Amino acid sequence: MVGDGFRVSNFFPQGYNMSQSRLSPFFLLDYNAPVDFSAREHPRGVGVHPHRGFETVTIAFQGSVAHHDSAGHSGVIHAGDVQWMTAGSGVLHKEYHEQEFSRTGGVFHMVQLWVNLPKKHKMEAPRYQAITAADMARVALPDGKSEARVIAGELFGAKGPAKTWSPIIAAIVKLGAGGVADFSLPQGFNATILVVEGSAVVNGSDAPTDNLVVFRNDGDEVHATSTDGATLLVLSGEPLNEPIAAYGPFLMNTTEELQQAFRDVAAGKFGVLED
Ligand code: MN
Repeated sequence: MVGDGFRVSNFFPQGYNMSQSRLSPFFLLDYNAPVDFSAREHPRGVGVHPHRGFETVTIAFQGSVAHHDSAGHSGVIHAGDVQWMTAGSGVLHKEYHEQEFSRTGGVFHMVQLWVNLPKKHKMEAPRYQAITAADMARVALPDGKSEARVIAGELFGAKGPAKTWSPIIAAIVKLGAGGVADFSLPQGFNATILVVEGSAVVNGSDAPTDNLVVFRNDGDEVHATSTDGATLLVLSGEPLNEPIAAYGPFLMNTTEELQQAFRDVAAGKFGVLED
């Protein structure tokens, strides 16, 4: 559990070197597979905590999440929406089930991705992008059965609305029953696909529900099919190839920068946020 509101599987192992050569700029993927939460007046979630040096990207498939941070940003995302927060130089934030969702209870299904920032952008001012399902570029695929929603970067000739600090493609591909999606990802980009619903066959390999497909970094041509329909989260990005120093909620390049982050939180430089 992350707090009491997010029951997640951590998909990226913490052996940084091996996994980062295949997954950078994506550093962590917490996957909350569907969980039925009982109704409760006081929302479950994670209380005030800091971040520096990266972005948290929350993608809601079912359920609603409320966010508040010390940079003055707040918002609620519902099923189909994405919250793309640049922690940059530092924020305190809290993440909870949205009040109404908490009162009624129901299925919660979500991804939180940590996107590393390039060294030159780690100390950018915090930024908050609320991207609703309606904001995303929608593309009907040539099979006549499937569609893609592009969140960031360009895929199937459509550009997603998210601003990113390094080249990234993020998209949700909904394969219909008997659907086929063919696309190529840029040479040199890392690439991964999380199967969030249904099951698929990706480049000849079975990709069942809740599994992660990790590609070789070699300019992948992707051929995905599904017999009964599937929802795929496609993530691809240019590797940063910079040193990583990570501890808890901080993701920096050196140990000194981690120590500085702890000192800056203690000195109140991340601002103030009430619990
Ligand atoms: Mn957080």
